[in-house]
Amino acid sequence: MGRRKVVKARTRRALWRNWGYLMLPLILWAWFIAQLGPAPIAVMSTLAFGFFLFQAQAPCCAQTRQGEWCRNNASGILGGCYLKNHRWQNVRMLVDRATRQKAVNGVLRGVDGKAATVSAAIAFCALLVSIGLLLVNMSKA
Ligand SMILES: [Zn+2]
Repeated sequence: MGRRKVVKARTRRALWRNWGYLMLPLILWAWFIAQLGPAPIAVMSTLAFGFFLFQAQAPCCAQTRQGEWCRNNASGILGGCYLKNHRWQNVRMLVDRATRQKAVNGVLRGVDGKAATVSAAIAFCALLVSIGLLLVNMSKA
């Protein structure tokens, strides 16, 4: 008898593409219900933040020669799409002050980009607070 797969391949792929979004309720749960303390929350929010920066689906912010946005999906807010020239395009645009606003508009032009940006901000806040709590705990010890 063959081993039955518990999770279908398509479901698994969707999970892999969106696991960072599942981290957010998990962080809230760990924080308010399980009260796990700042260390595991710091780890979880770091993972989630990394997911949104480098893996979550977001629009690619590279410009084509016609001056339009690249239509591909980027991996993460900072990632850029699969085209070699577009990789790190989002980062380069965000670093350069002249193109920063444009890059922000570019990331926010899609629903997935908005979701990734808001979620990244939440994860970042959770990370900051948990690190702050860790430092407070350390100074008390
Ligand atoms: Zn692109």
